[in-house]
Amino acid sequence: MSTFADAARKPLPQPDADTEKLWAGLRDGKLLLQHCEDCGDVQYYQQALCRACGGERIVHRAASGRGQVHSFSVVHRAPGPAFKGDVPYAVLLVELEEGPRMISTYTGGEPGDVTFDMPVELVVEPVNDVISLPRFRRSR
Ligand SMILES: [Zn+2]
Repeated sequence: MSTFADAARKPLPQPDADTEKLWAGLRDGKLLLQHCEDCGDVQYYQQALCRACGGERIVHRAASGRGQVHSFSVVHRAPGPAFKGDVPYAVLLVELEEGPRMISTYTGGEPGDVTFDMPVELVVEPVNDVISLPRFRRSR
């Protein structure tokens, strides 16, 4: 057990009861959003109750994968040893077509190419048997 080795490894999400469906969907290449059957609200990130009305009647539906860059930041200084090989990279706040905004990262191009309101589409990148990460590239 070496703390150096741990620091060199990227932290990964840990699925729990609330988010297991999200990660299962991503393993299938789909980004699942929660739709509230009581008030119609659409939410990301997954949880047991509707954040708008507190309702429990929530269904999962796959997002279109389309959205646009609401905001972004280009990271030049790695937040830890595990990310040294990635800089520079762009962290995106993507506004999904369905409404929710989510934080992700840009792929498929140079971070300097990212602009506000740029149309993007989902790319699901498998990391291991459990975790596949949702990222975004410029729409084609
Ligand atoms: Zn609701």
